[in-house]
Amino acid sequence: MPDNIIDLIGKQGVVLGDGGYLVELERRGYVDSGSDRERVGTGRGSGQFTPEVAIEHPDALRCLHEEFLRAGSQVLQALTFFATREKLTRAGYGSQTEAINNAAVKIAREVAADQALVAGSVSRTQLFEREGSTAAGHARDLFAEQIRFLQSAGVDFLILETFFHLEEMLIALECAAESGLPIVATMSFRPRTTESTDGRSPAYCARAMIAAGANLVGANCEQEPARMLSILQEMRAVATVPLAAQPAAFRTTNETPCFTRLPEFPDALETIQVARQEFTDFANRATAEGIGYLGGCCGCNASYGQAMARGLADGSRSGTLAVPVSRSG
Ligand SMILES: [Zn+2]
Repeated sequence: MPDNIIDLIGKQGVVLGDGGYLVELERRGYVDSGSDRERVGTGRGSGQFTPEVAIEHPDALRCLHEEFLRAGSQVLQALTFFATREKLTRAGYGSQTEAINNAAVKIAREVAADQALVAGSVSRTQLFEREGSTAAGHARDLFAEQIRFLQSAGVDFLILETFFHLEEMLIALECAAESGLPIVATMSFRPRTTESTDGRSPAYCARAMIAAGANLVGANCEQEPARMLSILQEMRAVATVPLAAQPAAFRTTNETPCFTRLPEFPDALETIQVARQEFTDFANRATAEGIGYLGGCCGCNASYGQAMARGLADGSRSGTLAVPVSRSG
C-alpha cells in the first residue's frame, strides 16, 4: 500500500482529505475566534483562530480526527494552521510553539495509525498583510522553523494553505522544498476570485507554485465549491500536476466572494452554511476537473467528509473505488 501521497493519487486518481478543524472546534467551544476583542477577518488580527487546542484540549482534537477518519478521510491534517512562532506569540503561546506543533502531529498520527496519511499544515504568517514585502525575511525564518518541527514530528507530507499573497507562498515553498517532503500548495483568493491579494491570477499562481516545487496546486478556503470551481479551472488549464481543492462551506456573494470578509464571519456563520450535498456534487466531478486531492475547509465537519466520500464513490462507479490507506512502516 502506498505510504506517499503522490503514489496514492497515482493509484486512486482522487485522495480524500479532511478540513475545517478550527471553525468546527471554535463552534464546540475549544478555539478562540477573537471576536469579542477585535474585528476578525481583516487579516490584521492577533490571537484569533490559533491551534493551542492541541495542548489545551487534546481529546477534543483527537475526537474530531476520529470523526473524519470514520467518514472516509485518507489524510488527517495535523492542526498546525497558524502555528508559526510569531502568530502563536500574539495569542500568548509563543513559548509553546514546538510543543503545539509536536502535539498536533502526534495526535493526528495516533488516530491515523495505518489507516491514513498525516499532513502538516503551514499557513500564512499574517505578516504580509501588516508589513508587506519587508516581512519576507522574518516570514522565511518562521516557515523554516515550523517546517523543521513538522518534519521531525513525522508528517508524511506538507499542505501549504490559505496564503493570500503569492509572494509569501513562494517563500514557504522554498522552505518546504528543502525538507524533501511532498508538497500540496493551495492559495486562498481574497478579496477577489480572479487574483491573489498581491494581484496574481490563478493561472499565474499555479505556474509559479509548480516551478517552486509544489507536487499539487490549487485553492482552499474562502469560497464554496461552486464558486471555487472557476479558480480551479483556470489553474487546470496551465497545470502540469494534479489539482488540490479544499473549499469552504459558506455561501459567498458576487460582491464579496470570500466568507471572511462577510459580516457573518465569525459569529453568524450558521446563517450562510452550505449544504453538504454541494460537496457531494463537487466530489462527483472531481476526477473530471483534474482534482487529485479533495478536502474541505472552514465550515466542514465529518458529515461533509462523508458527503464527499459518497460523491467520489458515485463519480468512480465505473472505475476504481477509493481504497483505505495503509502506511508501510
Ligand atoms: Zn478555511
